[in-house]
Amino acid sequence: MIMQTKLTDSVEEAAAILNSGGVVAFPTETVYGLGAGICHPEALLQLFRAKGRPADNPLIVHIASIGQVAEVASAVSLQAAQLIERFFPGPLTLVLKKNSSVPYSVTAGLETVGVRCPANPVAREFLRLACCPVAAPSANRSGLPSATNWEAVHEDLDGKIDCLLRGDPSTIGLESTIVDCSGSRPILLRAGAITLEQLRAVVPEITTITITQPEERPKCPGLKYPHYAPRASIVLCSKNEKIDIKESSAAYIGMSEPPEGVALLKVCRTTEEYGRELFGFFRLCDARNISVIYCELPSDEGLGRAIRDRLMRAAGLC
Ligand code: AMP
Ligand code: MG
Repeated sequence: MIMQTKLTDSVEEAAAILNSGGVVAFPTETVYGLGAGICHPEALLQLFRAKGRPADNPLIVHIASIGQVAEVASAVSLQAAQLIERFFPGPLTLVLKKNSSVPYSVTAGLETVGVRCPANPVAREFLRLACCPVAAPSANRSGLPSATNWEAVHEDLDGKIDCLLRGDPSTIGLESTIVDCSGSRPILLRAGAITLEQLRAVVPEITTITITQPEERPKCPGLKYPHYAPRASIVLCSKNEKIDIKESSAAYIGMSEPPEGVALLKVCRTTEEYGRELFGFFRLCDARNISVIYCELPSDEGLGRAIRDRLMRAAGLC
């Protein structure tokens, strides 16, 4: 179905469209989100359709304040409370036992719900004006790199959603860290800008699942789907690896000096810059018909863990 997508800079206008049952893309500090009120079943269906998202991939529910956790969760463990106290609002999603206000269409039939309170002031104001918590996956077509600026949302979803609230580019550029706090021991399900080291400073017993343990996957349903992949193929390389470029339309992103002979390149000074630029660079490469992108794997610590995870998925290696 083709519809008119309203482009706006007004949080009030965007919230009014959401509250009347519309699907609205909005900025957050991680990536742009595609929101529907959890009290609007039709909008939730439209959201899945617009993204082309499989119905068994649950959505994260976004709230405006810590006080709203109780509106969607039926139980908050001591460890979850400690993480909320330290990291909300921010780029952290907690998986908690859901309560009856959260429909199963949002949780893909699970008894748990992913909850996040973003820090971006525009997102918080939008969520504050929303008449109910807002389910929101990343605002891109399923499988493509997440949208980190409004132009990327427009490219993917114009004509498929009711409204796009334009804001600044996302300052982090990678999806939220996800920690499952619904069981006896908290588990890191997805790496993000809140690092494992930071989490363990608050809750030392947090464990990780590695992508080599497929039996753990059902805990985090969406992780089985391909993600973040540009059309160009991805080749991973290590720091200072000697790369012999053979393709005429190759690109490079990383933190070391680029190899000779690439048509497009991005050298990042910090892991923060690498995380912020990664998805935008993937999209730029596709726009320029790049055939292969050489990506340097950062070290597996701090934010590097999240960047490695996205690169491995984009390369189809997990
Ligand atoms: P995104 O693709 O950024 O919208 O993030 C959604 C991801 O959060 C899903 O693909 C799951 O991996 C994870 N998630 C959301 N809700 C849950 C839940 N109830 N249990 C486990 N993982 C969840
Ligand atoms: Mg996504």
